[in-house]
Amino acid sequence: MTQEIADFNAMEDSKNLSETESINMPLGLIRDWSDAQDFQSALDVMALWLPRLIQNDRASVAISTQDATGFEVFKLKGSTALPTGTILPLDSIPGDAVKKRSVLNVPSLEDSAYQLEAPLLVQHGLRSCLSAPLVSGGECYGSLNIARRELDAFDQSDETLVKGLAEVLGATLFALRRFETEREFAITDSLTGVANRRHIMDLIGQRLHQGTCTAPLLFLDLDGFKLINDAYGHHTGDQMLREVSRRLVNECEPDHLVGRIGGDEFLILCDDAFSTEQAGEFAQHLIDVCTQPLAIGPIAIHPRVSIGLATPSSDTTTLSELLNQADRAMYRAKRTDSSMFEADEDLRREAELTFAIDRDLDRALEEDSIEFHYQPVRFLGSNELRGCESLIRWFHPDVGLVPPPLLIERAEATGRIDALTTWAIDRVARDLSKARELAPTFNDKQFSFNLSPRQFGWGDYVATHMSALDRNGLRPSDILIEVVESGTIEVETTAESTIRSLAAQGVFITLDDYGTGYNVISYFSRFPIHGIKIDRSMINSMVENPTMRTIVKGLTQMANELDIMVLGEGIETQAEYDECAKFGITLGQGYFLGRPMSLDALVELAHLEFPNQFPGAQAA
Ligand code: C2E
Ligand code: MG
Ligand code: MG
Repeated sequence: MTQEIADFNAMEDSKNLSETESINMPLGLIRDWSDAQDFQSALDVMALWLPRLIQNDRASVAISTQDATGFEVFKLKGSTALPTGTILPLDSIPGDAVKKRSVLNVPSLEDSAYQLEAPLLVQHGLRSCLSAPLVSGGECYGSLNIARRELDAFDQSDETLVKGLAEVLGATLFALRRFETEREFAITDSLTGVANRRHIMDLIGQRLHQGTCTAPLLFLDLDGFKLINDAYGHHTGDQMLREVSRRLVNECEPDHLVGRIGGDEFLILCDDAFSTEQAGEFAQHLIDVCTQPLAIGPIAIHPRVSIGLATPSSDTTTLSELLNQADRAMYRAKRTDSSMFEADEDLRREAELTFAIDRDLDRALEEDSIEFHYQPVRFLGSNELRGCESLIRWFHPDVGLVPPPLLIERAEATGRIDALTTWAIDRVARDLSKARELAPTFNDKQFSFNLSPRQFGWGDYVATHMSALDRNGLRPSDILIEVVESGTIEVETTAESTIRSLAAQGVFITLDDYGTGYNVISYFSRFPIHGIKIDRSMINSMVENPTMRTIVKGLTQMANELDIMVLGEGIETQAEYDECAKFGITLGQGYFLGRPMSLDALVELAHLEFPNQFPGAQAA
């Protein structure tokens, strides 16, 4: 209670201020008033002050409903003749005060025409009332209502005071109401009515920030939502999202938070008291509920959902880490067709790496702090070094070695793949020219450079590649390209034209991980292929598996006849080496023939090895 109110309390309580103070508001009211942060606290201030300003028995405000078809009652003082939330029609006491835009004095409720509310007020012993319009910015949107037990209880000075109060109240309530509506609008997802992206993120962030949050987070995504949108239109898609939201909200306990963060993505932060196991059971329950068929007009839809579950492991888990883990777990669920997946240690590590890659890749490229390691490629039989495959290595100061496939995936996902590619081809070209300076034996060796389908599908790649060669004094045949044979090279795409123009300029093209894709044979005739690298999985299983042996043998014969160079990848044992050599595979690569190593180590190896005597050669 403020000092002013306390002082005021000390005054004669029964003093009828309506007679003495008229419209002069005490300072305390004004101050409390301006401190009111929201609609309800403004009403509370009013309820506190009202008895002291006017001797009345009951007080309420009535505010026009959003659709302007009636008035909603908020009780200020006295018993609940009309409880808060009562909706009055337009032809009610507040309605008439608003229509009149001036104070309405109803001297006898019993004899009035207000059929709905007058009998209720009379039942509560009230016999007369005053209603003054709440006006703001020229708009009249409700009324302040005072009722008394006496008949004809209000005189001119009461009318003046209530009118004055209504003016102040009107302006303040209007501003607060608008502020709340705008706030509501700003935090709610307009389609589904659940928290919007920013709001749910803020709420989760706040909980994490308190440092004690152990609440599991569920990341829910509708499977195949795009197909439904495309097939039946956005209206159906929207209905589906609304229905799924409704189901989620229905199933959630009051302490759960539900929000929509993107098209068909929802977050549910469970109550702090939930264990991960409980959250898992709850997620399963949500899956059961959400996948119940739903009818939108004549269309029957069977929704499918995937849920990722992540629990903050310690007080230090940040919002983006938690989201990242839940998101990844959800993708894992999708990929494995298992509806639900719980973030485990591997996934947490992946999330940690992802976060570090996304945050630091630009700077690492700028600082040239990523490097390449080089793995020897040798002629089988003589073991002479033919060249090396360049393999990207980023030793991140915080998270350690970044797995190359994840690095490429993140660069693609975050739109940095072109920058990475530009830097990478230049770095490999620089390294080769440096190796040649330090060890002349590299003058006739080639480096190979990996390109993902997305990378060689980049329209500027050919120019980027050729200028990197130029800058470093290299010929087109010095760096060959390894393209992952993933079945994605479609006819007449940028990827195809990249391959063709690189080949036309004298760059050798090899198909990497050969045998793991789809268009195994057709590539031979479709593209100017110089070599294939038979995938490690085939090489490794060949020794034990006669069928695989036959396949590799056949492939090698066919490639040899077509003058396509064959390389066996991932040779780890003498037996694998022997099998490869026996089938006429020309080149080999694998831990048995040399691990990936830094450029310095490679140069040293070249010095040591020349004239290319490798222990495996004797064994072979
Ligand atoms: P890849 O092109 O098939 O490269 C061979 C991978 O197998 C390398 O893994 C290499 O270290 C590993 N390896 C080589 N010999 C053996 C062996 O005997 N046994 C086993 N178990 N593994 C062996 P790494 O460096 O982790 O690279 C993984 C993949 O990441 C590469 O597969 C390639 O697809 C991709 N990658 C690496 N560097 C780049 C790059 O600069 N650009 C692109 N686009 N992809 C890259
Ligand atoms: Mg490769
Ligand atoms: Mg490979």
